[in-house]
Amino acid sequence: MKKSVEIIEVSPRDGIQNEKKLLSLDTKLALIDRAVKAGASRIEVTSFVNPKRVPQMAEADEICKALPRNTGSKYIGLALNRRGFERACNANLDEVNFVVVASDTFSEKNQATDTDTGIRLFNDLTTETTPGIGVGVTIATAFGCPFEGEISVERLMHVVKGCMEANPFELALADTIGVATPVDIAERIAAVRKLYPDVPLRLHLHNTRNTGIANAWAGIQAGVQSLDSSFGGVGGCPFAPAATGNIATEDLVYMLERAGIHTGVNLKAAIDAAEFIESALGKTVPGMLMKAGIFPDQCTTS
Ligand code: MG
Repeated sequence: MKKSVEIIEVSPRDGIQNEKKLLSLDTKLALIDRAVKAGASRIEVTSFVNPKRVPQMAEADEICKALPRNTGSKYIGLALNRRGFERACNANLDEVNFVVVASDTFSEKNQATDTDTGIRLFNDLTTETTPGIGVGVTIATAFGCPFEGEISVERLMHVVKGCMEANPFELALADTIGVATPVDIAERIAAVRKLYPDVPLRLHLHNTRNTGIANAWAGIQAGVQSLDSSFGGVGGCPFAPAATGNIATEDLVYMLERAGIHTGVNLKAAIDAAEFIESALGKTVPGMLMKAGIFPDQCTTS
């Protein structure tokens, strides 16, 4: 078992992108600041999408200009197409995370292209990238599609192979709609590992069917080094019906630290951030540790 696992805080991107209540630029920056202070080594700060399609992401460039610098946290921007990729590359970020979708139907709805065209575009963009920014890839609907149903391992591996030709520094598999089980995680990570023993692996999990934290554990056992999560378990995809949140950062950190796996994230600061986002959104968020309290720190004998 690993001694440490990296947490990638995605609440400023996935966490709020599906929320109807638009957060101010100051609130978004305050959330990022809380992620930095909580000790997140990498933060997905925004998505470079058309604000007409995803209004919450309207201030992507302004956010990047105002990010606190020299903090020890690396900043990631998400991109779905050429324009988004080019904007991300010019936003003074550490990394761009490009999305390729494993299923054609979701790919068309999410980024107006089929899967194979997305793979070709990713390969074209990486050859054009100027040095100085890390280029990673996330394969969305890697465990199932809301429109096409099951995604076979063969189909997933077709997409993985196409993306790996671009030599990304990291490969992420996303359970975009929260349908995976721990067996699926183990099977698919093993299939990737067999062909690519050295590429750093990242998992993006949604807790839509309450399998998120179990899937995180299965991923770590299978050799995943980085896990996406969001304070309070907020999150969702505007183009996935009935999408719900990512796994909650503080719940994940609690499980890992209690199991002796270091994350670098301060649990009390993560709960504070979860309470901040709950207050900013004005609604109860799914995270559980923030309601139950840390054990044993908050036990009393009275
Ligand atoms: Mg997501």
